[in-house]
Amino acid sequence: ACSPAAQFGPFRADGDDWPVPGDDQLARALPRAIEDGRIVPFFQPKFDIFRKRITGFEALARWPDPDWGMIAPIRFIPAAEEAGLILALGEAMLAASCRAAVGWAAGGHAASIAVNVSPHQLSLGGDFVGMVSGVLAETGLPPARLELEITESVMMEPTLRGVIDALTAMGIGIAIDDFGTGYSSLAYLKRFSASTVKIDKSFIDDMPAALDSCILVDAIIRLGHGLGMTVVAEGVENVEQVEALELAGCDIIQGYAIAPALAGPQAFGLLANQGSA
Ligand code: C2E
Ligand code: CA
Ligand code: CA
Ligand code: CA
Repeated sequence: ACSPAAQFGPFRADGDDWPVPGDDQLARALPRAIEDGRIVPFFQPKFDIFRKRITGFEALARWPDPDWGMIAPIRFIPAAEEAGLILALGEAMLAASCRAAVGWAAGGHAASIAVNVSPHQLSLGGDFVGMVSGVLAETGLPPARLELEITESVMMEPTLRGVIDALTAMGIGIAIDDFGTGYSSLAYLKRFSASTVKIDKSFIDDMPAALDSCILVDAIIRLGHGLGMTVVAEGVENVEQVEALELAGCDIIQGYAIAPALAGPQAFGLLANQGSA
């Protein structure tokens, strides 16, 4: 229903040329942009294949700039990590995302929200668990409606596993992001106290034409289910992939086949248009 271009909102019409900022320009503008709250979450729907409904969203950071257009996270997340700004940005993204989810519920359409966590947010020290519980208390979001997306590298760090366990004990969901790309050991999967596994887009891309990708996706789905986890496929772009994933028993799909990341009001519109469950 929504073209990927829709995510650029009023800032960009296709074919417009925007001046592209250099890395150094971007790095100089970043602290103020974070301080002023100009980096905001957009929301990509998570679609439950069997219930045929949007049940939640993933928050993806966007920096709309009047001169530069929409700046993608690949440009500013690594810069924020390097400049020591990722704690501030991460907290701002979490707070804005939780506020949005509280707003949806208040509008009569509750949905869960998944927020990306940089490994730096956990390894820089500081009280990550305290920060998260503070944001939940401030915004009033029930912990069960929050999911944190963490990469496998984090789960493999023994010192960080305590943090994950504490978040889980609070009732927050933990998703293993980009599963299959990193250290991906099936033995580790068993030890994770994660509730969700997200199959990386690179596996989905080759579906359903490439048999080996189908076999891998099938295996991850069965393994995830065997461990009591919810399985999400990301980067789902076409109806053939949707059908193959439905057949394989995947729980949730995310991708342009459903919608790109949308500004808050558009995301709420999709949710509200479904009617009540
Ligand atoms: P990710 O967490 O793996 O997010 C998925 C990326 O794939 C997003 O890119 C999303 O827009 C894109 N995508 C979704 N569906 C499709 C599809 O069907 N086809 C294609 N080609 N792409 C699709 P985005 O928003 O540019 O984010 C890139 C990465 O930046 C994210 O990867 C995540 O690692 C990071 N990121 C984004 N927001 C945040 C944030 O608030 N905090 C942190 N720490 N990282 C973030
Ligand atoms: Ca993610
Ligand atoms: Ca991912
Ligand atoms: Ca990815």
